[in-house]
Amino acid sequence: MKRILFASDLDNTLIYSHKHKADSDICVELYQEREQSFMSQNAAALFRQMIQQENICFLPVTTRTVAQYQRIFFPSQFRPEYALTANGYILLKQDIPEPEWLSASQIQNQKYQEEFQHLEQICLQDSRFRHVSIADGMFVACACESSEIADSCLSVYQSVTELQAFRTGRKLYFFPPDSDKGSALQRFCERHSFDVIIAAGDSEMDLPMMKIADIALFRKEQKDFATEVLYTVLHTALV
Ligand SMILES: [Mg+2]
Repeated sequence: MKRILFASDLDNTLIYSHKHKADSDICVELYQEREQSFMSQNAAALFRQMIQQENICFLPVTTRTVAQYQRIFFPSQFRPEYALTANGYILLKQDIPEPEWLSASQIQNQKYQEEFQHLEQICLQDSRFRHVSIADGMFVACACESSEIADSCLSVYQSVTELQAFRTGRKLYFFPPDSDKGSALQRFCERHSFDVIIAAGDSEMDLPMMKIADIALFRKEQKDFATEVLYTVLHTALV
């Protein structure tokens, strides 16, 4: 049987924020006792089928910090064996950071710590940012009031730092330029062997994964993308 790796972004690929919620959607994340993220009924049904397939390894690949990732509860209380969090810098094995992976990422990012702190200080003084943090010690994450404000900040801030700036919605991220979700996925695949790699994502941060994948599923702002993705994964595993 073919062994399939399904490497998937989460937000706006498999799950959606409350802003896009339909009445029948099921909640997959609570934050401060409020329903935060959702999955459609169709996607959840396909997800339940997917986790029954022993030849599929589901690997979430997310920019979420470890704590943000751990708030998600997948259908049937499924916990993936592995997850790449913090844009690939932290590999969780059974929800615990894998020490060897973590120390390699820390060594790699050591040279950017000063820049993280410098940029954090600049952003904290800019009233257009509502939240600024150094996410799990690996990159700088900021949130603005709106996507329009974030967009105007992006053009200004990408020229003031050597870090690589990305925007998704009202959030801005500043990553070290020498690694991305693609290099993390590559690193994961060097340790584990698969016959087929399927990657799914919706933002520019997911594009490096597409280059490594045998089957690349990439859509921006498409409703029901999760259903299409999970259907493709199941179809690939079953034929
Ligand atoms: Mg996304």
